Amino acid sequence: MSLTVLTPLRLEAHAVRKAGVEAVRTGMGARAARRAAARLDTVDGALAVMGFGGGLHDGLVAGDLVVATEVRGPAGTQPLLGAELLAGMLRRAGLRVHTGPVASRARLVTGAARARLAASGALAVDMESAWLVPAAAGRPVAVVRAIVDTPGRELHRALATVAGARAAHRALRRAATVLAAWGDAVRPRALVLAGPRASCAGVERAIEVVERMLEQEGPPLYVRKQIVHNAHVVADLERRGVIFVDEIDEVPEHANVVFSAHGVPPRVRSEATRRRLRTVDATCPLVSKVHAEARRFAGRGYTVVLVGHDGHDEVEGTRGEAPAIRVVADAREAANVEVEDPDRVAYLTQTTLAVDETRDVIDALRERFPGIVGPGSDDICYATQNRQDAVRALAPECDVVLVVGSANSSNSRRLVEVAERAGTAARLVDDESHVDPAWLARAGTIGLTAGASAPERLVARVLDALAVLGPLEVSEHTVTRETTRFKLPPELRGER
Ligand code: SF4
Repeated sequence: MSLTVLTPLRLEAHAVRKAGVEAVRTGMGARAARRAAARLDTVDGALAVMGFGGGLHDGLVAGDLVVATEVRGPAGTQPLLGAELLAGMLRRAGLRVHTGPVASRARLVTGAARARLAASGALAVDMESAWLVPAAAGRPVAVVRAIVDTPGRELHRALATVAGARAAHRALRRAATVLAAWGDAVRPRALVLAGPRASCAGVERAIEVVERMLEQEGPPLYVRKQIVHNAHVVADLERRGVIFVDEIDEVPEHANVVFSAHGVPPRVRSEATRRRLRTVDATCPLVSKVHAEARRFAGRGYTVVLVGHDGHDEVEGTRGEAPAIRVVADAREAANVEVEDPDRVAYLTQTTLAVDETRDVIDALRERFPGIVGPGSDDICYATQNRQDAVRALAPECDVVLVVGSANSSNSRRLVEVAERAGTAARLVDDESHVDPAWLARAGTIGLTAGASAPERLVARVLDALAVLGPLEVSEHTVTRETTRFKLPPELRGER
């Protein structure tokens, strides 16, 4: 699809054209912008408003870019949903980028009026965007302003030094190339949501444990390790007063500490008791079940072979439950693992592995130790299994699958691998700012899912951002409905 770039000033148009991107000069100020917008109603494809802007916050410097999340004009506010996705592209191109509201005013804003705009939460001010954005008329639209002056150096003075204008010109030129790639990715698409997807019962329970403790005890609240492996969940709880620590000796005596969903080895519990900490255990009950199996096998004199990823928090917790645990990651390691008594070997698995691969590893263990025993039922949890089944079912009908999840989330990474094994390209994204439209440029159908540690709200954000890259026909491919819920730990079960 084509991209139309609107630039109010000659200098702004020059910066965009220097990047080899066509620009339409609309003229400076509200009246010129309104006239230009009226002329543009037959334009196809995406629309970008690019130009200089006045910075309203101290954190901005000349040459920074502001990608508008909304444009506030005299007639109201116009939301721009794809801002974070575009900002991510610009950041990956090495530009300094902020996202936030841009205010449009008919006149140059200085002094006290400018301070009032800053207090309203707007990041930048311009004189045209609010009148140009309506020209998009439902097509994809973005507003990118390069900061030319800052609160300490307002426009009339900054232009005299020229330095601010130069920095902004350079930034606009570099941004224009990125905007062209953004425009190239705009096309109508289908999007298939995987069902089930996103947070599982164990993750929801762990987050609720922390939230209830915050409510009851107030901050600071300590959590050993990331409560769940998701960067957004962790950052959100940190903002609310949670302090994440790697080890229990970082927690002050008598403080409250929560154990993460991945479980802890027994030595951590003993250490917490010795240091007189008040502990609440958010270990997922399905991980606790694996711990119990490890203790049961070890108590009967078996060497336990744990199929999992060495160093993962869950594996570290399970390993602590029995003295003789061997960890193997794949069939090759399984074929070579050493044990004391080959006739007394048991296997267990991490809860978040890929189902197909784990089967191969267990087959290799069975070949090596014909008498090997395993858990009563599979350790790979229902949530991991269901999310993988859902991706396997939708991948063949997609050109690319996006998996929302953090890089340290085992179950999210497995979803990428499952899609790839089904022959479909797949990408792991923490949020919409990690989506590179180049992946989607040729994609007519996108699959979208999320790991068990990623909240559904992140899926919604990615969906909203994708909808800005052209008309999106959304459907859902559901393989099963989940009803599993876990009770909170007894000490937190009281009515709210
Ligand atoms: S992925 Fe499975 S084991 Fe892990 S927290 Fe969720 S339900 Fe529990």
